[in-house]
Amino acid sequence: MNKPRIVILGAGYAGLITAAKLKKELGYNEAEITLVNKHDYHYQTTWLHEPAAGTMDPEKARVEIKSVLDTNRVQFIKDVVVEVKTEDKKVVLNNGELEYDYLVVALGSEPETFGVPGVFEHAFSKWTVNGARQVRTHIDYMFSKYNSEDEKRDELLTFVVAGAGFTGIEFIGELSERVPDLCAKYDVPKEKVKMYVIEAAPSALPGFDPELVEYAMNLLESRGVEFKISCPIKEVVKGGVVLATGDEIKAETVVWATGVRGSSIIEKSGFEAMRGRVKVEPDLRAPGHDDVFIIGDCALIINEEINRPYPPTAQIALQQGEVCAYNLKALIKGEETKTFKPEIKGTVASLGGSEAIGLVFGKKLYGTSASFMKKMIDNRSLYIIGGPGLVLKKGKSPL
Ligand code: FAD
Ligand code: NAD
Repeated sequence: MNKPRIVILGAGYAGLITAAKLKKELGYNEAEITLVNKHDYHYQTTWLHEPAAGTMDPEKARVEIKSVLDTNRVQFIKDVVVEVKTEDKKVVLNNGELEYDYLVVALGSEPETFGVPGVFEHAFSKWTVNGARQVRTHIDYMFSKYNSEDEKRDELLTFVVAGAGFTGIEFIGELSERVPDLCAKYDVPKEKVKMYVIEAAPSALPGFDPELVEYAMNLLESRGVEFKISCPIKEVVKGGVVLATGDEIKAETVVWATGVRGSSIIEKSGFEAMRGRVKVEPDLRAPGHDDVFIIGDCALIINEEINRPYPPTAQIALQQGEVCAYNLKALIKGEETKTFKPEIKGTVASLGGSEAIGLVFGKKLYGTSASFMKKMIDNRSLYIIGGPGLVLKKGKSPL
């Protein structure tokens, strides 16, 4: 009998863990496993605010897939997924096609603009290794350009972050921490640098613990960050942003962090979705598609306690990868699949340097203890992906 063909799309947290766990769940002859990713490396999406702001070498945030994957058991294909043709049980790639018996879609997310024009043309919005490299290089260029021009334009040193969600806050935390070094390196007076975080909702980090939000805002303000709250951005233009009030902030650097939607491949492939996320069945399969699992940022799961979707996080993506692998094994062996139930341990956000805020198992953490916890969480995800060797190679010092 032919081995069932399992194809996994995306080597982020969800896809990579599915592949690694499947290897343990199934014997050599029980399935043919293929993993497809557009790069030959996995990146730690949760670290990308650091290389983007320039406080981490981008190399540190990525791992060669072949170094953490048993390629004797899992075939790796570096290619771009174009579309899934569910009726033909095929995946169209840039350079060919793949047939599957079981499919796992784990293609992550794309920036959400909520229809605001100009984002893709004039703002940095890609939270990928290449996107982070671009922001970092651009920031340095702005500092170097400022001093080389006779007419010193303020907008060269004005940095706008759109959205005070966790991504926006973590990014400005890193940037504000780095500004003194940038000023020293490029002979720029610190008071010339302007950093704005612009948030549409009535609070930064909407829905998060108000005391922790206040701690974060006070700290960031002490580093020179200015918050504009209840202040939606209505357009990004060349050289700045236009606010709903009609006012314009001139800035040569706009970093977009107003949230995410699931991969565009989801809607292109005909899956019913809300903002690119498929409301999956309890065992993570797509409704009406018994052979397709959708996990990570492409999946939508409702938190019944508050009747709202769980936010798309790495914490959930990693847990889904494990359950997805278990359920694939169950289907192949004719066993019962299990229900996915997220175990939310908490949320910790870095604020640059040795500062952070967090709520872990209901306990509030601030400052260095929160920062220690964040680095432990970051190292844990490395451990899950590549074991102790990877933690030794790429791990963060907890201090
Ligand atoms: P991803 O990790 O994004 O992986 C998707 C993979 O698919 C990538 O390898 C990508 O290259 C590949 N891919 C995409 N499209 C294609 C295609 N067409 N063809 C081939 N390959 C493709 N969550 C937390 O829980 N804790 C945190 O501290 C945290 N911090 C964050 C910090 C930042 C700056 C950001 C942006 C997000 C953060 N998140 C955090 C959210 C978290 O990163 C995501 O929820 C998580 O990465 C989702 O995992 P995933 O496997 O679904 O997608
Ligand atoms: P988000 O949806 O959490 O926050 C986006 C923010 O942008 C919101 O506060 C929203 O009100 C605001 N916004 C939307 N449109 C706007 C506009 N036009 N003008 C100004 N503000 C606007 O998105 P995110 O911060 O990108 O996070 C994405 C996901 O990743 C979330 O699930 C988040 O929890 C997760 N994440 C977690 C961490 C962590 O745990 N440390 C870090 C980063 C991201």
